[in-house]
Amino acid sequence: MPTVQTVQGPVDAQELAVTLVHEHLRFRDEAVAVQWPGRYDEQAELDAALAALGAAKQRGVRSIVDPTAMFGGRDVRFMKRVAEQARMHVIACTGIYSYDFLPHYFLNRDIDAMAEHFVADIEHGIQGTGVKAAFLKCAADAAGVTENVEKIHRAVARASVHTGAPIMAHSMPAIATGPRQVDIFAEEGVPLERVQIAHCGDTDDVDYIEALIQRGVYVGLDRYGLELYLPIDKRNATAAELLRRGHAQRLMISQDFCATIDWFPPEAAEAFQSSGAIRNWSMTLVFDEVLPALREQGVMDDAAFHTVFVENPARWLTA
Ligand SMILES: [Zn+2]
Repeated sequence: MPTVQTVQGPVDAQELAVTLVHEHLRFRDEAVAVQWPGRYDEQAELDAALAALGAAKQRGVRSIVDPTAMFGGRDVRFMKRVAEQARMHVIACTGIYSYDFLPHYFLNRDIDAMAEHFVADIEHGIQGTGVKAAFLKCAADAAGVTENVEKIHRAVARASVHTGAPIMAHSMPAIATGPRQVDIFAEEGVPLERVQIAHCGDTDDVDYIEALIQRGVYVGLDRYGLELYLPIDKRNATAAELLRRGHAQRLMISQDFCATIDWFPPEAAEAFQSSGAIRNWSMTLVFDEVLPALREQGVMDDAAFHTVFVENPARWLTA
């Protein structure tokens, strides 16, 4: 039985059971948090993460894949506390979440040196703990696949080839970053069935998504609740059509929910809610609104649910 590294140690892949493959226990700028720690309320952050996981657990979720990497405030001690108190599996990553910026530290070191940092997190542990990363994370957004973004992708790819760990890549369908990201992984020799292109559900261009699936990667329909990118009805129509076309084995459905996030001051966060840019964003929206809608359309039976929420995450993490 293959095992998966969680923040509490390795578990049999079959123990992961129902898994949300893209959720954040906490998202914050690690530089700001180190320089102005008093601006953050760690107890409130812990409470919010526990509330989110508790609600998901009530819907039957057993495992959370948390792709918080460098620049997202990755903190495996915090993640371990949450996992222990929630009594759920939490799976951590290594990698760099940057749309372009790199510190001089990595600008002046080559791809292989960067990859070696990721490999150490996978083979030895993160931040001086024994907690090992189970997968790799990188990102391409509005700036496109810049020189620095490509460097991170190649380092992630080389660490994947070296360790066998799978990859999750944040993408931006509006500028079609996905195919280029897949090209880089392929050039570096990554088996494409180890790759997950996140945020494909931000477009309802089913043919764009299907073209990615046909290259062998998983696609994330993973931002339910973020109406500003695409409203739920369009996300559901896309999911339904991909299921009708027989792609259940390549879909990852999640919310990219952040139990807390420091990107906006409180008044802006409230404005997002009242303007409808964000609606019912949570760690349970998929269970409360999405699955009922997909079941009603006859595209999500128990077998499809098991494929998407149990088999796909386990296969991606272990295959
Ligand atoms: Zn995310």
